[in-house]
Amino acid sequence: MEHTKCLIIGSGPAGFTAAIYASRANLSPILIEGMQPGGQLTTTTIVENFPGFIDGIDSNTLMDNMRQQAARFGADIRWGIVTEAKLDCSPKIITIDGTTQISADTVIIATGAAAKYLGLPDEKKYAGQGVSACATCDGFFYRNKTVAVVGGGDTACEEALYLANICKKVYMIVRKNYLRASKIMVERVNASEKIEILFEHNTVGLTGENGVEGANLVFRKGEADEKQVHIDIDGFFLAIGHKPNSDLFKDYLDLDENGYIKTIDGTPLTKVEGVFAAGDVADPRYRQAISAAGSGCKAALEAEKYLMAK
Ligand code: NDP
Repeated sequence: MEHTKCLIIGSGPAGFTAAIYASRANLSPILIEGMQPGGQLTTTTIVENFPGFIDGIDSNTLMDNMRQQAARFGADIRWGIVTEAKLDCSPKIITIDGTTQISADTVIIATGAAAKYLGLPDEKKYAGQGVSACATCDGFFYRNKTVAVVGGGDTACEEALYLANICKKVYMIVRKNYLRASKIMVERVNASEKIEILFEHNTVGLTGENGVEGANLVFRKGEADEKQVHIDIDGFFLAIGHKPNSDLFKDYLDLDENGYIKTIDGTPLTKVEGVFAAGDVADPRYRQAISAAGSGCKAALEAEKYLMAK
């Protein structure tokens, strides 16, 4: 069986940053790219909040640069999907594509999280043309325009408030008759003159010739007073939660109630020695490319430290 000192799972900013640091530390890491090479960031267009790029940078270019930077220092980047991870042994055993096994002294989990979507065909039809699951990534493109945010949790409130600073008007489309977000967020949303909450509304479709121009909603679906509602919007933001890609590791690591890997005291250390978690899979709070990159760096430094002490 092939052996490595450091195996990195995931190819978003956390995974590639870990690969850059681990390869520069002579750990000869192997990085398994996973289902979505480049990670979640590649679902957006221009990244304007990653430091160092005055005019922003195309998301695919940014991720490709990270990939090439890691490769330049010798990281062995492979296409493949990790299908099994055995973490309660030393070395750890990682199975790729159900067939190939690699043993690893350290494992850095950087598998990210995926935004949840409603499952409407129109979300795919208008992907990158008005449908987004990240207000901080894409909100800027809707300056002085009208947008809708779906969801009634803390993320939806945060996104709506963020967008209210940029846009002319923000609808919140909420399926219940209340917001489940924390009290302080609800108060802030209620205080914003730009935000209009559409309680008990569900989205059934999007309209528009050139990108999103409107949304078709149903008010009180299935009730006697059910009614069809149309709103004119330029952007449609999903904020109905994220699902961390942590299923493979749940038998070995502690996960929080939403499935995020629990790490120790703000470090990438997990409860299993030699296993580190970086980026969105362990971050329910910030979920930014730059914070993911930072935690990837920390994970590689911790892996190096662990190997030196062994
Ligand atoms: P939540 O699960 O808390 O909220 C999801 C929201 O989306 C709910 O209003 C839910 O409706 C709605 N929703 C889910 N599925 C659908 C659907 N199919 N159609 C329509 N609406 C749907 O997720 P969040 O991402 O908001 O928060 C996750 C965790 O992160 C929470 O614990 C939150 O407190 C925390 N968080 C904290 C922040 C902070 O402290 N600043 C910021 C952001 C998140 P319903 O209520 O009907 O289920």
